[in-house]
This record gives sequence, C-alpha cells and structure tokens, in this order.
Amino acid sequence: MKHENSTIDCMNILVVDDKPENLFSLEILLRKPDLNLVKATSGEEALRKVLKNEIALILMDVQMPGMNGYETAELLRSNFDTRYIPIIFVTAISKEEKHVFKGYESGAVDYLFKPLDPVILNSKVSIFLDLYRQKKMVEAQNVKLNEANKKILEQQKALIEEERLKVVLQMAGAAAHELSQPLMVLLGNIKLIEMDPDDPKKALKYISSIKDAGQKLSKIVKKIQILDHVETISHDSRTQILNLDREIKVLSVEDDDADFNRIVSILEKEKVMCLFRERTIKSTIERLARESFDIILLDFSLPDGTGLDLLRMMNLRKDATPVICLTGKGSETIATTMIREGAYDYLAKAETNRETILSIIKNTLDKYRLKQNIDTAMEKMAAMSTRDELTGLYNRRYMNELLEQEFNRAMRYDTNLSCLLMDLDLFKQVNDKYGHTCGDFVLKEFAVRLEQNRRGSDSVFRYGGEEFLMLLPQTDIHGAHKAGEAICNHCRNVLYPFETHQLNITISIGAASIESCRPSTGADLIAFADKALYRAKADGRNCVRIFEREKEHTVLETVTYGKKGINYLKDQVAVILEKTKQASMRALELLIKEIGGDQLENETRQTIQYIHFLGHKLNLPQGIVQSITQAASMNGCFRILLGEEILMKSGELTDTEKDIIEKLPYMKIELAGLFDFFTNEKLVLLYNHERYDGKGYPEGLKSNEIPLGARILSITNAVTAMTSHRSYRSKLDPEAVLSELVENAGSQFDPILVDLFIDIIAENKILMVSKQVLSRAKGKLEQSKIKGTK
Ligand code: GH3
Ligand code: MG
Ligand code: MG
Ligand code: MG
Repeated sequence: MKHENSTIDCMNILVVDDKPENLFSLEILLRKPDLNLVKATSGEEALRKVLKNEIALILMDVQMPGMNGYETAELLRSNFDTRYIPIIFVTAISKEEKHVFKGYESGAVDYLFKPLDPVILNSKVSIFLDLYRQKKMVEAQNVKLNEANKKILEQQKALIEEERLKVVLQMAGAAAHELSQPLMVLLGNIKLIEMDPDDPKKALKYISSIKDAGQKLSKIVKKIQILDHVETISHDSRTQILNLDREIKVLSVEDDDADFNRIVSILEKEKVMCLFRERTIKSTIERLARESFDIILLDFSLPDGTGLDLLRMMNLRKDATPVICLTGKGSETIATTMIREGAYDYLAKAETNRETILSIIKNTLDKYRLKQNIDTAMEKMAAMSTRDELTGLYNRRYMNELLEQEFNRAMRYDTNLSCLLMDLDLFKQVNDKYGHTCGDFVLKEFAVRLEQNRRGSDSVFRYGGEEFLMLLPQTDIHGAHKAGEAICNHCRNVLYPFETHQLNITISIGAASIESCRPSTGADLIAFADKALYRAKADGRNCVRIFEREKEHTVLETVTYGKKGINYLKDQVAVILEKTKQASMRALELLIKEIGGDQLENETRQTIQYIHFLGHKLNLPQGIVQSITQAASMNGCFRILLGEEILMKSGELTDTEKDIIEKLPYMKIELAGLFDFFTNEKLVLLYNHERYDGKGYPEGLKSNEIPLGARILSITNAVTAMTSHRSYRSKLDPEAVLSELVENAGSQFDPILVDLFIDIIAENKILMVSKQVLSRAKGKLEQSKIKGTK
C-alpha cells in the first residue's frame, strides 16, 4: 500500500482520450499541486497504467478507436484490484438516458459533457478525490488497528506468562520457607546417627525422624510440581477452530433476514458451531441474562437502537461475552468506535465468507481466553500475595502466617522469640504538611532501610499504615531492645530528600519477647509489644520501650516483690516518689507562671542558675542541688502567694506586718508540708531567712547551724532580687550588688559563699563589672574576713 498516512501528498488521476489535444486541455484544467495526471490515449494503455499506478479517479473518453470507454470500464470492473476505482465518462455524444444508463451499467459513477465546464469539472473531481482521501484514511486506521490488536494480543500473552511465573515463584518462595524446617530436622538426625553409630535403639529413633522429615519434604515438592503443571498448561495457539472439542454457542443479533441467512449458510456446515438469533437489543439483553454464549455477532443498526447501545448495556451489566461487529460497507469508523467500547473485532458484511468468519471467531475466542487467564492470574496473585504493594515488605497477611509458625517453633524447641512493633512519630503531620506523595515516599524509603539493616534471621513486615513489625527469632528482650535502639538511632540520623525539603522522622518502638511476657499465642506477643509501644509514645516518642511484667501492678505480683526484700521495695517506692515529686514540681512551675507571670519565672530561673553554679563549686551531690533548686521554686511561688513583698518595704513596718514577716517561714513550710515528701526542701524554706550572724528569723540560727541549702538560697535569692527591678526600688547597678555582697559577708551571708559567688560572677560574667572592680571586692572581702577572725 502506498499511502499509510492520513495525509496524502499526491493523488493520481488517469485521463484517457484518444485525442492529445483533449488530454492537454484536461491537463490545464486540472493543474493542482496535489494532483498528478497519468495520461493514456487508448483503452489498452489505460488498463496497463491502472495496474502500474495507484489511481484515485479515472476520467475517460467514451468514443475511442479500438476498445471504447464502456468496454474499458467493464474490464476494469472485472479486475479485483481495480473494480472500485471511480470512473467519470467524458462524452460529447448524447445526454440521452439510454447512453447514460449504459455508462452506469459498466461501472461509471458520473458523466461530464463536452465541452467541459471548468467549474463543474473541478467540483466533481474534488468530490471524488475527497472520497478517495477518506477511504485511504480509514484504510490506514485499519492497518493501525490491526497492528494494535496484534500487539495487545502479544502483550497479553507476555503478561500472562509473567504473572504465571510470579505466582510460581511466590509459591516456591513460601515453600522454601516451609522446606527449611524439615530439611534441618533431616540433616540434624543424620548428624546424630553419625555421632552415635553404635546405638541401634537410638538409630531407629533418628531414622524415624528422618522418615517424617522426608515425607514432609516430598509433600512440599509435590505441591510445587502440581502448581507448576497447572499453571503452565496453556492452549496451543495453532489449534484450528474446527478441532475444538466442544460446541461453540454463537448468538447472532441481526434484524435483517437476508444477512442472517448468509451467516446461517456459512455456519451450518460447521459441526462445532451452534447458532442462535435475536433481533433486538431488548430481547438480546433478556436472553443474556438467562443464557450464556461463547460469542456474539452483532449487527450495527437494529430496530431499537444501535450495536453501540447494546455494547454499552452489556458493559453496565458486566457481561463479558465477546462481541464481533458486523458492519456495512465503508463503516470502518463505526467499527473503530465499537472496538473502543469493548467489541473484540469487526467484519464488513460484504467480506463475510466461511474463511473470514471462522478465523475471526477463532481469534476472538483466543483473545477472550487470554483475557480470562489474566483476570484469574491477577485474582490469584492478590489472594496469594505476600508483599505489601507500597513498600515491597511482607504484608500483614503473610506476617500472621509466619508469626504462628515462628511462635510454635519457639514453643516446641523452647527458644525465645522477640518482636518489635514500630510506629513512625507524628506521621499525620508529614502528610498534612508535605502531602501524601511525600508520606508514601518516606514510607518506601524507610522500608528499604529497615530491610537493608535487618539481620538475616529477622523478618520485617508492614503491619499497617505507618506501622512496621519485626520478628526476631532466638532473641531475648535485651537483644530486641538493642535492635530497636539501633533502628531508632538510624531513624534519627537519616534525612529524606523530598522536592526541596529534607525531612527527618523519628520512630517509637515497643518490644516484647516470649520469655519476658509469656504470651499464649503469637498475636498475644504482638499485643504486649503494642502496650510497650504505647508506653514509648507516652514517654515522649522517639524511643524504645520493652514490655515488662514487673511494671504491671497486680496484687499477686506485689507479693513476689515482697520476696525480693525490703530494700528492693524501698527503691521501687523511692522511684515512684521521685516521679511524683517531679510531677508536682512541674505543676508548681506552672503555678509560678500563672501567678507571678514572666518576671517571677525569669527570676526563679536566674536563682536556680546561681544555685547550680554554687553547687558545682561546692561539689554538692546532684540530689542536694536539686532539692535546693526545688526549694527556690517553691519559695518564689509561696512568696507571691503570701505577699512577702512587705519584706522589701522601705520605712517603718507596722506591728501586724512584723508579725506576718516572722510567721512567713512557717507558713511556707506549712505549704511545703502539703507535699509531704519535700523533707529537704522544707529545711531550706524554713531557714533561708536566717542570717549568718544569728540575727535572722525564725530561729536565730547562726553560721553552720543554718542548713547549707538555706544559706545558698539566701545569697542567690538576694542577688536575683538586687539585679531585678522592684516596684519600691529600681534595680541596683552591678558595682552596688558587689559591695552589698561584700559588706554583708559574715553578717547576712556566709562569707565563704560570698567569696565563691564573686568567683562565679567573674567566671560567668553574671554582672557587667571590670576585673579591677572584682579584685577590689575580693580584697575588701579578705580584709573583712581577717577582721572577723580577730
Ligand atoms: P503518633 O506519633 O502518635 O503515631 O502520630 P501519627 O500522626 O503518626 O499517628 P496517627 O495514627 O494519628 O496517624 C497515622 C497517619 O499515618 C495517618 C495517615 O495520614 C498516615 N498514613 C497511614 N498509612 C499511610 C500511607 O500508606 N501513606 C501515607 N502517605 N500516609 C499514611
Ligand atoms: Mg440492520
Ligand atoms: Mg499509627
Ligand atoms: Mg504514628
């Protein structure tokens, strides 16, 4: 075929006339860039040229010496290749009916009369050329359609083969897992026989175990063989339709009796074909509801609609019976639409003969069978799949299977089995912030890393959404904890590049093991890991928690605590108390913020920092420093609550005010007493208004009688107060603070603490003072100490 594209560059018109001058004038009239004139001066020459060139249209003189126009036309009609080329007769002889009729009989499509009218000539010629173009286009489409059909068929075959292989491999994969256990038993027993060759009793036992294992192996191998065999049976594509071993039910949907009778006459000779007929869409749909057919031959125009309507209704009803369209001549565009709507193929009614119809039925049945195979393969795949689609990890279905196997094995051989349940932290936020695609990307990437970093004997699964599970056979809870820590760490250190972002995600992990939880099923083991995971989330995420029975308080278990001794119990209670204390302190801090606002919060923070400095200088244990800082927090809070500001009042105090001040420390410890475990803090609170020289209150304790914590709080509190702005005075400048400290060393403050604090001021640049000022202060302090000792 010369024209494969829909755009046709140049078309050939054959002009036939015995007079060269007529040819010449036609040439002039038809001169166009996309037209090529092929000229012939006789009927014989015209026939020769038609066979040599692809001709779109023939303009032919009727009266020619030798073979005339009509005779030439009849010859052209009789030839298969040339019978459809349109012929326009050009004649001068007569416009009478008789002649015209003769022209049509011999296959002419039109007449032009001499002398030629250029407008009429051109319009008629262009109509035929348009038709020619359309015909070529449809032909080209047909070629493409056929190629596409062929390709689809090939692809379908390849796909089925691929699916089949996958299924077999997957089954084999699962079987490989099953295989390893009996194989181990078998090899192990052989080894035992080798080690113990002289004990016939034992040997018998070993051999019986070997037999069992061997039988198990053989069963599995059989399974694989059956599977492979069943799956590989595929039909032979060369099977002839006539050799089919069963009857094929063909439904012809055709309203035209003549058309139907043609089909009957062809198919009635085929023994395997059984033909049925429906005339309308309605009756066809009804029939399809109660009866199934192998194939439908569908006419396009039917009394109650078109073939397209029927196809659409079948699609809606999910009726997959393959359909072949029978179309009238030149309805290739309709055919294309039908195929798009799901028809398998089409056949022009004019070309319906035994050969074409049988081959198209055979091809369609082939295609249908392939499609069915794909569908079943897909279904089987879904049911048997062990992999999660997104991450490629084992899925939950397979996890359940493997979990029970591993659990039973651990029970049988009395080995341990651990599991880690992992949940990505705040993953919803990732989706919300960066979109689901990003979330999916992170899940995939994380899965890859998990898979890459696992030990050979461990298996990882996608448990659900952003949750993963790892099974660790023969691993105790400590090993599982370690593995979990490694994953947590890895997670912390990885950045996921997505578009322009670098994402960092953390994970929370719960761990449980058979030995530490004593679960009764595999699912139980996971439930314990889930509890631990819950704890990990509650403890702030980004961590591993293990499930420990000890942490679950039941009466029975408390009894076992008792057996461990009073010290163990005390330790446990101390841990609980410490936690309660921390919780109370946090509540108190919130209270400070609420009542005292930012200022109190900042001042308290400042005092606490000073306490830490002093604690460090004095090498105090962490616990004591913590007590003093807690006392400082409480002190600040209670100060506000009790209106201690009157302490700072300038001018004379009233009697009531004096009374209040004296009572303040007791009120504070009364408040502290509400938290009865703050013993150390209570002392600090009670005595932080004592003075080093014994002139303070409430007890008038002096120097070392005053608890160290109280002395520390006294000086740190004072520095904070002096450097803060108060309503009754503005804050002191740094030098004034220094001299206050020095001047009151030995009277209000412990001189050693003042000394240390000046060092702290120098080291930590707490006050903006020069070195000279600091060393002058130090010097003064030395002198007063000397004075004091005198
Ligand atoms: P938490 O730290 O408490 O676990 O917070 P979270 O946001 O991770 O937990 P939550 O259970 O509230 O939300 C889990 C989210 O994980 C919900 C859903 O948006 C997301 N998710 C689950 N499966 C997928 C998935 O396949 N793809 C994507 N992109 N997101 C998923
Ligand atoms: Mg019809
Ligand atoms: Mg979750
Ligand atoms: Mg989560």
